[in-house]
Amino acid sequence: MKADSDCTLKMAIDGPAASGKSIVGREIARRLGLRFLDTGTMYRAITWEVIRTDVSLDDACELTAMAAHANMQLVSSKDGDRLLLNGDDITDMLRLPEVDANVSAVSALSGVRRALVAQQRNIAANSGIVMCGRDIGTVVLPDAGAKIFLTASAEIRAKRRAIEAGQEHDLQRVLDDMRRRDKIDSEREDSPLHPADDATIICSDNLTVEDVVLQILSKVRAC
Ligand code: C5P
Repeated sequence: MKADSDCTLKMAIDGPAASGKSIVGREIARRLGLRFLDTGTMYRAITWEVIRTDVSLDDACELTAMAAHANMQLVSSKDGDRLLLNGDDITDMLRLPEVDANVSAVSALSGVRRALVAQQRNIAANSGIVMCGRDIGTVVLPDAGAKIFLTASAEIRAKRRAIEAGQEHDLQRVLDDMRRRDKIDSEREDSPLHPADDATIICSDNLTVEDVVLQILSKVRAC
């Protein structure tokens, strides 16, 4: 496979929170001239809508309907991608603490997953893409031409996330929240977080973003 010129390549990058999927995936997509989708933003968008409309998290039917009718659009701007949900720019809401606190519970609902996975497959159809999430290599794109599972220790991931969010003073809370989210994501019944059998596992504990990008690119070019 000639990855440099293969504009139909579909690459799955999965892994736990703050493992670097998004920054690495975006850079690989840029270098290979592919589209990029961080599917976590879609689960975050539904979670924000649930909070905004004050729907009970226990109302699986309502949450499923919300996901099924959600019209999401990614729009490029000079400050990066913006996410429009039903026409409203909700980008700034996606990382709020209340979204962080509830997103794993919303994502565990099969109806929500079914609706979003269908949208993700539609987006991936027809041309190449780098897609990152928790279940891309196992469920969304099981035939992806390249599958990466990116991981790192919880302590290192929490430190990176705390620095990114300016919350270094609150490292323990960030670590606890991350462990709680990892546990729900890994133990849920529908599409739990785990590497696909044919995924390449990369631990980024002692690697820079550039190291990881180069490892993935050399892996893809060698196929
Ligand atoms: O990647 P990010 O941390 O933004 O994802 C937020 C949450 O969305 C995850 O903790 C997980 O519960 C959910 N998610 C998922 N499947 C995906 C992407 C994200 O369940 N493909």
